[in-house]
Amino acid sequence: SKVLVTGANGFIAVWIVRFLLEQGYAVRGTVRTDSKAKYLKERFAQHGSKLEVLVIPDMTAKGAFDESVKDVQGILHTAAPVITNGTYETVVTPSVDMTENILLSALKYGNELRRITVTSSVVTLMQPHEPGYTFTDKDWNEYALQELKDKGDKAAPHIFYFASKTLAERAAWKFYEEHKAEVKWDLETILFPYVFGPKFHEEYSNGKAQSFLYSHLEQQKLADTLGDAAGAWADVRDVALGHILSLQKEGAAGKRLIISAGGFAWQDVYDALATAQPKLEGIPKGTPGVPRKAFSIPDASKTNELLGMTYHSLAESARDTVLSVRSPGSF
Ligand code: NDP
Repeated sequence: SKVLVTGANGFIAVWIVRFLLEQGYAVRGTVRTDSKAKYLKERFAQHGSKLEVLVIPDMTAKGAFDESVKDVQGILHTAAPVITNGTYETVVTPSVDMTENILLSALKYGNELRRITVTSSVVTLMQPHEPGYTFTDKDWNEYALQELKDKGDKAAPHIFYFASKTLAERAAWKFYEEHKAEVKWDLETILFPYVFGPKFHEEYSNGKAQSFLYSHLEQQKLADTLGDAAGAWADVRDVALGHILSLQKEGAAGKRLIISAGGFAWQDVYDALATAQPKLEGIPKGTPGVPRKAFSIPDASKTNELLGMTYHSLAESARDTVLSVRSPGSF
């Protein structure tokens, strides 16, 4: 069967495309420019015509996805501005518009469609809370929406991204509720935290994108804050497989699927790298033994059971992140 992947050139999406092709699916990807299409076709040349790449310069335009949804059985809508210093117009509007667009195209032309998974984020549920709070699929980031309402353009820059994901996910559920009687497909959303792991998308290969984890190591922080809760994480390969499983597993229908390998403090990353095999040279040790603070993390247990998720360890994920920075092209 054939799967449509929007934003197919992104960090996470190229892993999704790779695993779909390896599992024998035909893939139709959408990208914004010819050069991004060319990169993907070359990267996956061994799969020949199993990969089709459509150039859609403006995916926020009405009807932009009309052609692309025809004759696919599944859609993974991953495209979204991933910008934590943007504005309402550059982040929120396109994110929501693209989500509504793909659903409307699916409603009109998705004759063979069985399922759509919209890529969301744990930022749609995580908001300020007492330490140790566990977030579930019942939570929504009302805080980001309130900040946006109260402060408008003066909201902190990351709030636009948090609100964009929250509003886009809400728009998806609203659309589905309104139209579910008319369609033969079901909807789910997939939510995950910081994504670690190896990169091979073009933006990375040409030096425009950086590794968040590796940049952190390069700053050589040596401090008592390295034990603070830094968030939760998952490896990009597990996130990508989770997307594919979300299309395959019957029980996933209608769910907000939370993928997470667990919470972390930066010292955990340093400690994990210290145990990595083969041994990595030149990795700082941080502040071994620094006390850990309580984590507030998302609970992935329901999704782990539904999808049968397994996860890379932090040592494997952090090691492979470092290897992909030091030896581009090794993944
Ligand atoms: P990337 O920035 O690598 O990929 C984003 C993709 O979306 C690219 O294909 C990009 O196209 C496309 N895109 C961005 N803005 C627009 C726009 N205005 N119109 C059309 N396409 C656009 O990000 P990731 O792979 O990290 O993220 C993929 C998804 O996962 C996103 O939905 C993100 O919110 C979500 N996510 C990511 C996390 C992370 O830690 N990375 C954590 C949680 C969720 P182009 O290359 O042309 O800009």
